[in-house]
Amino acid sequence: MEAMQSPPESDYHPVVFLGAGPGDPELITLKGRRLLDTADVVVYAGSLVNVALLDGIKAACHDSASLDLEAIMELLAQGYRRGERVVRLHTGDPAIYGAIREQMQWLDSRNIPYEVVPGVSSAFASAAALKVELTVPEVTQTVIFTRQAGRTPVPERESLRNLARAQASMCIFLSVSMIATVVADLIEGGYPPTTPIAVVEKASWPDQQIVRGTLADIAETIKGSQIRKTAMIVVGPALARESTIASKLYDAAFNHEYR
Ligand code: SAH
Repeated sequence: MEAMQSPPESDYHPVVFLGAGPGDPELITLKGRRLLDTADVVVYAGSLVNVALLDGIKAACHDSASLDLEAIMELLAQGYRRGERVVRLHTGDPAIYGAIREQMQWLDSRNIPYEVVPGVSSAFASAAALKVELTVPEVTQTVIFTRQAGRTPVPERESLRNLARAQASMCIFLSVSMIATVVADLIEGGYPPTTPIAVVEKASWPDQQIVRGTLADIAETIKGSQIRKTAMIVVGPALARESTIASKLYDAAFNHEYR
């Protein structure tokens, strides 16, 4: 009986964890586009990845929305062992709430190599939609990516109440359904109720929606809107439109080296 043919060593391709970007199919890297176009197997996070990215590609595409970790990993591993080009497609950037750690550990334990290719996080697509700079000189120089505790707990030392003390810019993921609690925690933690806040739903998608307000009124506005999920909460004094503090970077007296 003839043994099953395995591909020669050089024909194995590392599994690629790929950032799909926030939605707009043009907001994927050139590298990401090439990897999708040449892939044989794509396993994508169907709840948030724009399937328009998969139009016309030759790969066998699997939506991971209804699959558990084991089923996802078997799809990736089987493709790898056949010598195929395998892409695990995640929304935004895979390093942020992508749950790639457990997938990488699974591959590590089976000696399957992989690479990670970054993507445009929805945090940045939301900042772009709002046309804000999150790091305004003399206002704040810090951006916090976080979430409200939900089914996934958040350590108390980094609760919204504790993080609010810095009054930095914050991008709050996965939390719009709990907006009232978010606002209460932010105010309790130290942001004045007049602090500007915005919610961007489906940033960069054709049906993107923006709601702006202050900590005092945003919860009511969101309650009265259709926004329930796939939204980013962006908060902090950097969002204030009337800020007159000009960046020193373009000040005539400032060293020009960093422009
Ligand atoms: N890795 C992703 C985040 C995945 S967690 C990234 O880097 O963007 C899922 C959360 O991301 C959602 O609950 C929502 O808060 C946010 N999100 C994802 N896509 C979004 C979009 N297009 N607009 C606004 N928020 C989005």
